[in-house]
Amino acid sequence: MKTLNAFSPLDGTLLKEYPIASIGEMEAALLRAKETFRIFSETDTGKRIRLLKSLRSVIIAETDNIVATICKTTGKVKSEALMTEVFPVLATLKYYEKHLKKFLKPRKVPVPFAFMGIKAGVSLRPSGIALIISPWNFPFQLAMIPIISAIAAGNSVLLKPSEYALPVGELIANLCQSAGFPSFLVQTIYGDGNTGAELIALHPDRILFTGSTKVGKKIMQQAAELTIPVLLELGGKSPMIVFADADFDRAVNGMVFSAFCNSGQVCVATSRAYVEESIYERFTAAVAEKTKQLTQGKITEDDLGFLVLPSRAEALNGLIKEAVSKGAKVLCGSLSGKYFTPVVLANVNEHMAVMKEEIFGPVLPIMSFGSAAEAVRLANDSPYGLSAGVWTSDKKKAKDIASKLQAGNININDALISVGIPSLPFGGTKESGIGRYHGFSGIEFFSDIVSIAQSSGRHPSSTAWFPYGAKLYPDFKQTLRLLYGRGHFFKALRSAFRLWLRNFRR
Ligand code: NAD
Repeated sequence: MKTLNAFSPLDGTLLKEYPIASIGEMEAALLRAKETFRIFSETDTGKRIRLLKSLRSVIIAETDNIVATICKTTGKVKSEALMTEVFPVLATLKYYEKHLKKFLKPRKVPVPFAFMGIKAGVSLRPSGIALIISPWNFPFQLAMIPIISAIAAGNSVLLKPSEYALPVGELIANLCQSAGFPSFLVQTIYGDGNTGAELIALHPDRILFTGSTKVGKKIMQQAAELTIPVLLELGGKSPMIVFADADFDRAVNGMVFSAFCNSGQVCVATSRAYVEESIYERFTAAVAEKTKQLTQGKITEDDLGFLVLPSRAEALNGLIKEAVSKGAKVLCGSLSGKYFTPVVLANVNEHMAVMKEEIFGPVLPIMSFGSAAEAVRLANDSPYGLSAGVWTSDKKKAKDIASKLQAGNININDALISVGIPSLPFGGTKESGIGRYHGFSGIEFFSDIVSIAQSSGRHPSSTAWFPYGAKLYPDFKQTLRLLYGRGHFFKALRSAFRLWLRNFRR
């Protein structure tokens, strides 16, 4: 039996050894998920809402345990585990409890006048088995929010947590059990990337993947062969643009937070900043000063946690070295050793790898810009399009710049906030992903959208049915002219009447 070890980045201790699921175990899990889905998909929305409420109560009761598990698994500080992992999950639960009935209610849609008497509507039906593949940086919320969306829509779930966050995957299964979820509604499958690929091969009905762009492309390829709809939440290289008229202190604080929250291991982190020339020197110095004040060591009270994968420091140092060799200046920080200090780089330019590649760690390069047009050009000059920020006290300028930024999520004079609002769809453009979840989009993704058109069924025939005869073409044409262009009213009315009579042919 192959196993995976979970080590804590806090002190390197072995937390637990997890057996990697075999193909046979995965097939059995899928069968159980299908059987559970058969019954669960028929449950009414009220029962699903009760399950969400029950899960919320369990999370509130277990908050300290949840935070403790997240912290020891990821090396996060406690306040961040609470604010960025537990809080978004609770907010999402409450949001769906309130809006699920409305989201799942069949809705009527308008029909063209030519189809007078026909009623049309759209219904959402649970799609089946949802496979959720999650990463290690926010192992709780990036698994829980997809799970909540999937079960709210009536699906059953197979969760494949990151191999670097297995205890959180186990925790999630336990919480669902404590909340009284039907057995096998949410099953955690332990394993690595191969396990993820093997699960896809079993043909789930939906895949929501959160992780790197490289793996996302592989998943899309594999899913395409099986025509499984995928929602991909991938990497980012989020720009933050600061104009000289922005509130200086707020922009400095916001930049430091959005770059170094979770030690920079955030898909929407500010990983390249553009500051207007006239304030560049003063601004970068203030950011460096603020960054130096961040504390690290005690997860109960400090600002910075640890790198989930300490080995990544080497790759980050490579980016810093390359930038320095091309003229960048390190204003503060160093990534050597366990107790790293976040790095702020000035005098960078768009040709350095640190301004192009996803960083996913505590490194912030800041470049200057001369005009708004230049800032927008630089911000959009990236294969990624996950998130972007603009800071200015000029509301009109903020709106204008925001409308030009190529990103799925935009924050104005704020940092990382849009992702935390459960009613806002979340997802990326360009290589940052495909599809949206959160809000209604999350329910829609895990549903089959069914269109229904209904006739009264009272007439023996219908206008468009056989036999066509010689009159159909001119009468239809006259009627179309009246409806969609300019027609002779009385001529068209006669034609429309003749068309209507066709309903009564035997
Ligand atoms: P990763 O792509 O290495 O792994 C993510 C998950 O995919 C893991 O569970 C892994 O086991 C699984 N996996 C790997 N290969 C697979 C395969 N061939 N088939 C199926 N599953 C496979 O990502 P990571 O290192 O865990 O996370 C960091 C990345 O995630 C960063 O690029 C970050 O930007 C991105 N991310 C994106 C978002 C978002 O919402 N857009 C959020 C968080 C993280």
